Amino acid sequence: MKAIRVNKFGGSDVLSYEDMSMPEPKENEARVKIEVAGVNYIDIYQRTGLYPNEVPFTPGMEAAGVVDAVGGNVSEVSKGDRIAYAMNIGSYAEYVIVPAWKLVKIPDDIDIKTACASMLQGMTAHYLTHSTFKIKKNNTILLHAAAGGVGLLLTQIAKKLGARVIGTVSTEEKAKLAKEAGADEIILYTKEDFEVEVKKLTNNNGVDVVYDSVGKTTFLKSLNCLKPRGLLVSFGQSSGAIPEFNTRILSEKGSLFLTRPTLANYATNNEDIMQRTNDLFQWINSGELKIRIHKTFPLSEAKEAHKELESRKTMGKLLLIP
Ligand code: NDP
Repeated sequence: MKAIRVNKFGGSDVLSYEDMSMPEPKENEARVKIEVAGVNYIDIYQRTGLYPNEVPFTPGMEAAGVVDAVGGNVSEVSKGDRIAYAMNIGSYAEYVIVPAWKLVKIPDDIDIKTACASMLQGMTAHYLTHSTFKIKKNNTILLHAAAGGVGLLLTQIAKKLGARVIGTVSTEEKAKLAKEAGADEIILYTKEDFEVEVKKLTNNNGVDVVYDSVGKTTFLKSLNCLKPRGLLVSFGQSSGAIPEFNTRILSEKGSLFLTRPTLANYATNNEDIMQRTNDLFQWINSGELKIRIHKTFPLSEAKEAHKELESRKTMGKLLLIP
């Protein structure tokens, strides 16, 4: 089978298209014939070595396809089921082995690309709005990169929960898209000082929660945008790693809360995953949640997909087709 391999950490050019032997499922595992694999920012952190991983490895944390074989003791799925999953490495390939408890059966009325595109970023937007911070009606949130993959989904879900959404984006085109997704106000943080703008928009009160996946360039100013006892959810670092941080700053800026969550801890069992994906599929079916696929690449062109994501050009999901 064909797969993308990372044999050494580095830029997108280290992604190499290679032949691999066919993997066999063991006890509690299923083999999935991948039809679509999702590209996520975590794939870049793993490729560069920012997130620890041993080389060589096959990247990719999300896919949708068909169960092709099962190992012993698997009750969750059967051969031939259409499934999707997230948070299991190795999806940039024609086949992958996944623990059966991570697999979600795709409802008949959801197409395979939409199912794939809603798994990792969708479950992330779900846990951030329902578990890390339970958004309530009239909460005001600040969301960075509001026109990104997670950003567009989180905007729609936060609006559905009744929040006022202030989003930041880098371009006018992205501003338009984030507005269409429901954002109430947009700040072009490449041109305007987002801290000043948030203060203006909130009469100097600040927001209840900041969702910050940009990291290095936004982290400290994000703290300044919070109400006293507000929560900073630092869930990524697309602009680079956050510098070392003295927790005393949290008291100086208003007894703030800080959390650094990851989906791995919010999708720890089959029940968690089912509950989040059931909600997502239901909202997709009712038209309340729109999944935006930005572009699809052949698997062999994974490096082009990474270049595009890193260049800040994308607005929504990138997919790879083996
Ligand atoms: P996005 O589609 O959001 O792409 C990243 C966006 O970050 C860009 O489009 C860009 O938006 C913004 N950005 C700001 N500065 C930079 C920079 N210097 N270089 C590149 N991009 C920059 O990606 P994803 O939806 O896949 O992921 C969004 C974030 O969420 C990532 O940080 C990811 O790690 C995190 N994440 C965290 C999870 C968790 O559980 N903790 C799970 C899933 C994702 P703009 O041009 O508008 O600034």
